Amino acid sequence: MKTQLPNKDGYFGEYGGSFLPEQLQVIIDEITTSYEETRKDPEFQKELQDLLKNYVGRPSPIFHAKKLSKKIGGAQIYFKREDLNHTGAHKINHCLGQALLAKKMGKKKIIAETGAGQHGVALATAAALTGLECDIYMGEVDIEKEHPNVVRMKILGAKVIPVGDGRKTLKEAVDAAFMAYVKDPITQLYAIGSVVGPHPFPMMVRDFQQVVGEEAYDQFQQMTGKLPDNLVACVGGGSNAIGLFTAFLEEENINIYGVEPAGKSFKDGEHAATLTLGKPGIIHGFKCYLLQDEDAEPMKVYSVASGLDYPGVGPQHSYLKDIGRINYKTIGDKEAIEAFFEISREEGLIPALESAHAIAYAIQLAGELKLDQTILVNLSGRGDKDIDFIAKTYGAEYNL
Ligand SMILES: *Cc1c(COP(=O)(O)O)cnc(C)c1O
Repeated sequence: MKTQLPNKDGYFGEYGGSFLPEQLQVIIDEITTSYEETRKDPEFQKELQDLLKNYVGRPSPIFHAKKLSKKIGGAQIYFKREDLNHTGAHKINHCLGQALLAKKMGKKKIIAETGAGQHGVALATAAALTGLECDIYMGEVDIEKEHPNVVRMKILGAKVIPVGDGRKTLKEAVDAAFMAYVKDPITQLYAIGSVVGPHPFPMMVRDFQQVVGEEAYDQFQQMTGKLPDNLVACVGGGSNAIGLFTAFLEEENINIYGVEPAGKSFKDGEHAATLTLGKPGIIHGFKCYLLQDEDAEPMKVYSVASGLDYPGVGPQHSYLKDIGRINYKTIGDKEAIEAFFEISREEGLIPALESAHAIAYAIQLAGELKLDQTILVNLSGRGDKDIDFIAKTYGAEYNL
């Protein structure tokens, strides 16, 4: 399954592909060709492996959350510790991959959009390391909200370019970054933040993230003598989830759960549960499940975890939902916040709010399963970035 898909046109079943103006398609085809060549280059692979080990700190360990599991009294919960990576999340895995690819293609600059700033920081880090210039497009509203990440990007030497169109957030930033890329595709490479966008991005980002599952496959057996019975990961665009899941997709006895944000409610504009409530449509040049209005325009979305609020989702997830291989569930803000405090206080791990969605679902699931069952959760990132928000919003309730 993992080697067959996508097909040569970038389709996972009916999803994915590339819906772009002709002029842009020519440019993107060049990335596909370069990537296909580069990924077979042993020198590229060696360089990437070396950086993942000595710069990112891979392999990330697996931790058995014994105290939490005991308290629940059901299945045993384990965490794949992507929060321990340099820069604090899984995103560095695909940012390094794309930055190295840009170097191999002879590019001088790498550009991208960012919403909350996590992709921007990871990419600015990879750019500094590989000696590339870095332009990050960011909505003016997000620049205001995510001040520490804006400063981080600038410290790392990146240029943060404010986008003042429309709602001044992520969608407008994507449009602006794409436009800038089309203007100069010769010296620049566009680097996407998840398994989304036109082919080859969903495939490429998946390939760079699948190290997470490959490590876990061996580590978990060494620890427990078996493979995990269940896998859980949160799904925004879907990169940390597909990164963990890919190595296990063909193990039919393993139940796999992707967790989407139910936000405040299932009312339009108050959630980002794309696979649960969306319908197939087109966004940013690819086909996927999409939260859309009557005019097929992407809907406004919301989650307390800003890394999860995207109205589309990776095409491979859309396909895996249709064929029934992965179960997609939802967790709302409230349950995510409870899980955030629960594992902070039971295990001394402050998770990213995105990851807290996966943990919340794993806690529910563990309660329904027997003691000898296991759940491996992708702890996609650490929560340092979220503590100011938590203090402001939930400080009174949790005695902070
Ligand atoms: C960005 C982010 C996510 C969501 O992105 P995916 O592509 O769905 O993985 C999840 N967790 C953390 C910590 C993030 O920074």
